[in-house]
Amino acid sequence: MESFVSFEGKSIIVTGAASGIGRETAILLNKLGANALLIDINEEGLNDVCKMLRGGVTYRKVDITDTDALKESVMSAKEELGCNFTGLVHCAGIPSVTPLRAITDEKYERVMKVNVQAGLNLAKIFASRQCYDTKQQGSIVYISSVYGIVGSAANAAYATSKAAIIGLTKSLAIELASKNIRVNCVAPGFIKTSMADSVNSMFDKQYEDKIEKMHPLGWGSAIDIANAIAFLLSDASKWTTGAVFNIDGGFTAQ
Ligand code: NAD
Repeated sequence: MESFVSFEGKSIIVTGAASGIGRETAILLNKLGANALLIDINEEGLNDVCKMLRGGVTYRKVDITDTDALKESVMSAKEELGCNFTGLVHCAGIPSVTPLRAITDEKYERVMKVNVQAGLNLAKIFASRQCYDTKQQGSIVYISSVYGIVGSAANAAYATSKAAIIGLTKSLAIELASKNIRVNCVAPGFIKTSMADSVNSMFDKQYEDKIEKMHPLGWGSAIDIANAIAFLLSDASKWTTGAVFNIDGGFTAQ
């Protein structure tokens, strides 16, 4: 059966592509025919993903908080792929399970830089005339979280970053509409990825059971989020901008 979304003639930047949601998104977009630039700090992971993909893909190992290196990576990849970009998905992110008393300026700034500021800088790079394909509609997708919408203890820095993503999404949706660039975000519930594993490993089995019970449909998979990202990147959502798409197995419906 043919998919109702097609990425033929589209070229997408995916950050965080070495693992979890970003990796699954890169694999799906590649299956659907997209060209792609995969960005991550983890080169081994990038190499692994690339081995699974057909042509039209390149990768750059870069710390996305280094804005000059990020810009240079995007521009050189554009030359290598031979086309301007039509989409951007910012999946790179870090957790921070830290009670208020232990949040240092350093920890807070790192979470905000990776999760939010790099996303803002990526939009700035993407929305420049030298970078995006002005003949097509552009699409940017950010990853918020259920914790951008509801609170949880020992999570203030991470939750602040994910709520900021919602503000960033809505403001850029208005600002970039005149350039025919849409901006949306997804807000996932708990997904089994290396990020979730690193958080879960700090707690006992009871914690994992508790998390599962918070989702009426149980744990999610990275492909559940990748499918929604692909929809938001595709022309099938051409009239959707400024949206927060909750994909959380019912977590925030309660
Ligand atoms: P993950 O840890 O599997 O993948 C994150 C990727 O980001 C990794 O490959 C990592 O190397 C990369 N990365 C981190 N810092 C970087 C930096 N400075 N420069 C370049 N790359 C960097 O995590 P995931 O679960 O796939 O999370 C992806 C996104 O989804 C994150 O924004 C996360 O906050 C969000 N999210 C995840 C969940 C979940 O339950 N897993 C739930 C809600 C939201």
